[in-house]
Amino acid sequence: MTVSATAPPVSAPTPFPQFIQEFKAQLKHLFYIRSDIDQLSIKRGMPPFILREIMSSNPLATYIPEQYGGRGGHIHEGLALNAAASYESLPLSLGFGINWALFLQPTGKYGQEQIKAKVFADFLKNRKMGGLMITEPDYGSDALHMKSFYTHKNGKYHIQGTKHWAGLTGWADYWLLTARHKNSAGELKRDIDFFICDANGPEQNIEVEEFYENLGIYLLPYGRNKIDVKVPAVHKLQPESTGIKMMLDILHRSRMQFPGMGMGFLQRMLDEAVKHCQQRQVGGKSLFNYDQVQQRISRLQSAYTICSAMCLNSSQKAGVENNLAPHGLEANAVKTYVTDLMQSSAQSLLQLVGATGYRLNHIAGRAIVDSRPFQIFEGSNDILYIQIAEAIQKQMQRAKQKNLSQFLQQHELTERAAERLDKLFNFELTQQLTQRKLTEFGCIISRVIAMNLVLNLADAGFKKELIDSALVNIQQEISALMGDFTSTNLTEFIENYEEGGSWFECHSH
Ligand SMILES: Cc1cc2nc3c(=O)[nH]c(=O)nc-3n(C[C@H](O)[C@H](O)[C@H](O)COP(=O)(O)OP(=O)(O)OC[C@H]3O[C@@H](n4cnc5c(N)ncnc54)[C@H](O)[C@@H]3O)c2cc1C
Repeated sequence: MTVSATAPPVSAPTPFPQFIQEFKAQLKHLFYIRSDIDQLSIKRGMPPFILREIMSSNPLATYIPEQYGGRGGHIHEGLALNAAASYESLPLSLGFGINWALFLQPTGKYGQEQIKAKVFADFLKNRKMGGLMITEPDYGSDALHMKSFYTHKNGKYHIQGTKHWAGLTGWADYWLLTARHKNSAGELKRDIDFFICDANGPEQNIEVEEFYENLGIYLLPYGRNKIDVKVPAVHKLQPESTGIKMMLDILHRSRMQFPGMGMGFLQRMLDEAVKHCQQRQVGGKSLFNYDQVQQRISRLQSAYTICSAMCLNSSQKAGVENNLAPHGLEANAVKTYVTDLMQSSAQSLLQLVGATGYRLNHIAGRAIVDSRPFQIFEGSNDILYIQIAEAIQKQMQRAKQKNLSQFLQQHELTERAAERLDKLFNFELTQQLTQRKLTEFGCIISRVIAMNLVLNLADAGFKKELIDSALVNIQQEISALMGDFTSTNLTEFIENYEEGGSWFECHSH
């Protein structure tokens, strides 16, 4: 979709701090004066004038390299932009995040020179948008076995398959399509390749077979797409080694950038909770003065601090010049924990607001359904926790270290936190863990990695009271998780559970 440009060209961009202030003010004006975001958000899509106005300040230029006319694609600026958007609208921020991590960054890093200038110019001048299609109806978590395929003929790649749940379905002008090479014998190669598809180009139209009624994030369209396109050879991304390693670099960078979307959202949850509890009188006193309420608010504030620590860390590490393919442990820990915090913070806000919040046109109700899929997409958290656990196990084996505490105290991602947690972790970790124990263990490790990041944030001069409070809350969470981890539970589904499993029959005995 093209939005007509009303802004001057970005040849002399305003300095970023000024730009972001103006952008925040613009969102406030659009969402609270020119319209009412609580009403907008219960309808699918977005009125064209809102989108046109948002795009008029050319926010996506933040993600585009300087040599192509953008602001430079600096990670700290991208995170700040996503945070500014997610304070007002998580779906808007997700839309930005998709353009950034799933299209512009991969195109900038792996795209061929002949196509990059044209694509970036199209984004800057014509306000185009782009997304990424990996998931297929039968291959979600198991994406490596995708069935979409391509053949190469007459200087073009012919890509065929079915993709669904791609953010910006039917809306984006550019897509990164993923597919496996089919050889002349009809066999699919193991590796995965990426292709830029210009939906407005010849033979590149993508047909949306069905739009989905997504539960939340109403702003963004989702659906099922039939892929049958022919793209010029220069549209193929060029991996440094294998396509799968390129995919890992792209996805790990994207996961490291989730805290940008989390940041504004978590701050909003905190601000809304404080505002509501200070105003609401229950039992003759302000909700804010109840101890249990203070605990909830303190945890919301810790989520803000933890996410800040993640943003600072990602701003230092996630640049496109770095190959993040080998950094799955850190990226998965960041993605899982920040998305769990988003969902638990939304749940907590709704609990505090009570029935008033249980409406789609209230931020609390919406926040629950809007943040929930973050725990599912770009790697289901259940699976990522298992991967975190297996990565630690492998590294311990390689280091010939069985004692968990000693290992974590020597690991650069956990050393500082592990020192404080020595008592909890001073045991030998068995290699034989069930899958459910791997999930629990991975969950613990993600919190330890986050605690380490909070300690690093303290060194950077962050407010000490916030750090201390977050450390207490994370430590309590880790202790609780260790309680689960160390207790045995092998329960499984019991067949024929209704036979002899009826309370009503027990009643008549
Ligand atoms: C709002 C939203 C936005 C999305 N955006 C995009 C996008 O932009 N581009 C894109 O390509 N895709 C996107 N997706 C798709 C998303 O990445 C997939 O939904 C996700 O990878 C999970 O795949 P699936 O839904 O097929 O679930 P499945 O693969 O069926 O998995 C469902 C659940 O099964 C369990 N499970 C699966 N495998 C295992 C295992 N090995 N061990 C233990 N448990 C397991 C996990 O609990 C998992 O959550 C989006 C999805 C949503 C909901």
